[in-house]
Amino acid sequence: METIFKNGNILTMEESAPRAEALAVQFGRIYRVGRNEEIENLSRPTTKVIDLQGQTMLPGFIDTHNHFCLYALLTDQADCRPAAGCVRGEDVVEALKAQAKKTSSGKWIMGWGYAAYLLDDKKELTREDLDRASKKHPICLVHVSVHGAVVNSRALKELGYTKKTPDPPGGKIHRDTQGEPNGILSESAFMGPLFFSSPSIYSKMVADYDREGRIEMMSRCAARYRQLGIVGAHDPFVDNLTLRTYQETENAGRFPFRLYAYILNQWADPLISSGIGRGFGSEWIKIGAIKIFLDGGMSSRTAAVYKPYVYPPKAGRGILNYDQKGINREIEKFDRAGYQISVHAQGDRALDMILKAFGRVISKGNPLRHHIVHAGNLTPPQIDRVEELNMYIASQANFFSLLGDGFIEAYGPIRSQELYRFHTLLKRGIKLGFSSDCPVAEPNPLIGVRDSICRRTASGQEFGPAECITAEQAVALYTREAAYFSFEEKERGTLKEGKMADLVVLGKDPLTLPPEEISSCKVKMTVVGGQIVYEGK
Ligand SMILES: [Zn+2]
Repeated sequence: METIFKNGNILTMEESAPRAEALAVQFGRIYRVGRNEEIENLSRPTTKVIDLQGQTMLPGFIDTHNHFCLYALLTDQADCRPAAGCVRGEDVVEALKAQAKKTSSGKWIMGWGYAAYLLDDKKELTREDLDRASKKHPICLVHVSVHGAVVNSRALKELGYTKKTPDPPGGKIHRDTQGEPNGILSESAFMGPLFFSSPSIYSKMVADYDREGRIEMMSRCAARYRQLGIVGAHDPFVDNLTLRTYQETENAGRFPFRLYAYILNQWADPLISSGIGRGFGSEWIKIGAIKIFLDGGMSSRTAAVYKPYVYPPKAGRGILNYDQKGINREIEKFDRAGYQISVHAQGDRALDMILKAFGRVISKGNPLRHHIVHAGNLTPPQIDRVEELNMYIASQANFFSLLGDGFIEAYGPIRSQELYRFHTLLKRGIKLGFSSDCPVAEPNPLIGVRDSICRRTASGQEFGPAECITAEQAVALYTREAAYFSFEEKERGTLKEGKMADLVVLGKDPLTLPPEEISSCKVKMTVVGGQIVYEGK
């Protein structure tokens, strides 16, 4: 036996035997789970024996929607979150200025984590503010929702946006009173050039690193996640260079992390024509679903809704990247080719469209495990339809403490209480997986566990308390249930004989802690494939 963990409070997340004391690992897999005596009997002179001293062991966390590669890049750029000290508009400008000093002229700069409503002075930054950070660099300050951005004059020039440029489909170039672009861009107006085009600005920024720099960027990001007990993530935004970089990082032995890479529909044609299917890859990196963006985000007022947003006045009913025919065509194309499909849909209007589109193609039981990401605004009839179609939902409870006040402002005090009906979805037996949507929110899964129990916003408002779930349910959504999204429920997600030895050890038991203390529970150890990849104090 390679390794034995004993004297633990082991939460297997298996319904038949939820608790154990000890666990044995051999060849990267769980050999046995049980009582101390029976596991200790397996010990040989070469066995490494780890005394957990009553600490809690769980299956390693799986984040079913995490912009891994984007986060890896952004963490090298300007951190404009209040947590990084940007509490006023001017602090954001200063952070961008500091980034400009480190970056050669003409190269793109990104800032992240910004939103006017998160700032003490509620300052809505525009092109002029960012010009004070630099005129020599194109700058893109990404909104915390990642559904909007502010750019400077140099960036507008590079994007070719002038007074005469019409708004692109599914996007908006905001303008000043003279009709000149003011630097604020919504949805496809910045997502198009930044992410969807080929090569995108994101791809060019990644290509500016040399091979070693890219490997370093990805391995550092994986290491950060392992500190949080995350052993795997679904990255919904992977281009060719990123996929190659993941492989190079794995080959260099610097990626003990399980990545399920989604390919954006705009980039998927070479994949389809090659005939390479979902699941292709290694034990560590696999090609996952095809990702499609249908609408926007709630706090950015771009999620497509039937009733207009309550605030601000004239905020409208959101945006759509496809009409019904267009989305039907995309879904049909990838379903027919046998791919799993993951669609970003948030507002009720977008959710109706996607359920219609999936309703036309899904065969009984949803064998390809198509899923909707976010689905925050599902109405009761739509929940019925999700259940009928056996659709999966990848959603985010950790938004409540970060964006909840913004949701309440956008939807008003009544409609907002009906968002993210996790309790209802679970009661109906709908497959739900949890995720962070990092860099929108902090990747720490324990924040999501806390928020799904408490459902409180940063200012302390209640956010649909009828839809609270239990700690045990929330942990399952980051482990056992999350594994279904990559067809790996027999391989991962619970602590059971034969499954991969992907484990996390926590200082305290999140199932018995007061909910407010869960998010500060310390990760003591993370194990991936039987190897200890992180040890905390
Ligand atoms: Zn996302």
